[in-house]
Amino acid sequence: MSNLTFAIIKPDAVKNGNTGKIYDRIISAGFKILGAKLIRMTLAQAQGFYAIHEGKPFYDELTDFMSSSQSMVLALEKDNAVSAWRETIGATNPEEAAEGTIRRDFATSIGENAVHGSDSDENAKKEIGFFFSKSELITNQ
Ligand code: UDP
Ligand code: MG
Repeated sequence: MSNLTFAIIKPDAVKNGNTGKIYDRIISAGFKILGAKLIRMTLAQAQGFYAIHEGKPFYDELTDFMSSSQSMVLALEKDNAVSAWRETIGATNPEEAAEGTIRRDFATSIGENAVHGSDSDENAKKEIGFFFSKSELITNQ
């Protein structure tokens, strides 16, 4: 089990003024923020990041949305970070997300669902590398 995961505060949440509130959730859930930056994703970046979903009916809408305005990308550290963060954010569809989860409280729809979370250690590593250079990440050394 790795202790790293990758998160995005998606454009809907940034636009709705929820960045600070979601930051609070991240910290109170015990994650250490190793890296964070506000970006405006290009369409090409969104398409690359979500390449695994290419061909699915929601792919165009998703990549348009993710490149539509600012989002916050984060590298997070905690024991069993991938599953801990998925638990903190809740199910993809906010209607199915458990009470107290970020998506339950901040998502507006299944597409505009406030946050991203990696689904495996392997993808967490890839996703962090997609948006952060090594020098942008804090280390304990
Ligand atoms: N998505 C969507 N419609 C769907 C499934 C997914 O718009 O039916 C969007 C949603 O923003 C989701 C993202 O595509 O967060 C990636 O989908 P995935 O199944 O990987 O969900 P996640 O891992 O984000 O929970
Ligand atoms: Mg996913």
